[in-house]
Amino acid sequence: MEDWRKDQEIVVMEGRIKVPYRWAAGEVGTRYLQALRDEMRFLGTRCPGCGIVYHPPRRNCPDCERECGEWVELGERGTLLTYTVVRRHHPQLSPLPLPFGYGIVRLEGADTGFLHLLYEFQEGELRAGLPVEAVFAQEREGSVLDVRYFRPVREVG
Ligand SMILES: [Zn+2]
Repeated sequence: MEDWRKDQEIVVMEGRIKVPYRWAAGEVGTRYLQALRDEMRFLGTRCPGCGIVYHPPRRNCPDCERECGEWVELGERGTLLTYTVVRRHHPQLSPLPLPFGYGIVRLEGADTGFLHLLYEFQEGELRAGLPVEAVFAQEREGSVLDVRYFRPVREVG
């Protein structure tokens, strides 16, 4: 059968779809976000099979599929694994004044990293392996953005 579309012009329309959504965080997500909001504590879960401590916490291990029933308290400091610096303002996508960064941070006591914002760093300071610490928001509402961002650890004294 002949393809009737082969000689047709393809008209492309540019657009942006905004999709607001709400859903329950679930049992594991709720406990995690409550600890962030109410106690400014990070929690992870440990897999009883392979011993991996997941942060953010997971109900089930994606490697061995066991249920991760053990909760583990993590530090509010961690290690920057990788990052990028944003130097161009975008009116809808810039959560902090420029320059800020996005980084993967592995918290003390965790085996996995998670994506968060980076701020209060000097030009050229960011590197893989840099110790970073969480800066919590004054007003917290049960979101991962109850942590405003991570910044390089500054030792006092
Ligand atoms: Zn496992």
